[in-house]
Amino acid sequence: MEQTFIMIKPDGVQRGLVGEIISRFEKKGFYLKGLKFITVDQSFAEKHYADLSAKPFFTGLVEYIISGPVVAMIWEGKGVVATGRTIIGATNPAASAPGTIRGDFAIDIGRNVIHGSDSVESARKEIALWFPEGPVNWQNSLHPWIYE
Ligand code: GDP
Ligand code: MG
Repeated sequence: MEQTFIMIKPDGVQRGLVGEIISRFEKKGFYLKGLKFITVDQSFAEKHYADLSAKPFFTGLVEYIISGPVVAMIWEGKGVVATGRTIIGATNPAASAPGTIRGDFAIDIGRNVIHGSDSVESARKEIALWFPEGPVNWQNSLHPWIYE
């Protein structure tokens, strides 16, 4: 089944949103397949955001991501990449709908609480970077109550 990479950024951790965010993905019916609470260094953050290295906000973005611990996760489920992005909301919290994580909990684009992979291909790359050991292998016993 499809997997995505979700990261609660340092501001999300500092603001006590870890439980709330995990809860939204759990309650939707997605399965947690990896979880780590870590602080990453500059070269790792630059690798994660390599596609944005030419952007004027890149240096600030890397500083933000390494400024404190983050919660890195693998979530699994049908359509989890696109639906995960919907749950997260638009990149700029000012444009994020109420009910989305960024719409409910963030103000500035540079403090937008959470990351989610933007495609199945990015998810594959990001999971390989953050979880070289691979996902945790388990089956949720509620599966037939969530999937037809
Ligand atoms: P995302 O996939 O919705 O997270 O957005 P992007 O991949 O385009 O950008 C990655 C992250 O860089 C965003 O989540 C923001 O934290 C940050 N970012 C993007 N655009 C801007 C910007 O114009 N200004 C600043 N300060 N940060 C930005
Ligand atoms: Mg992105």
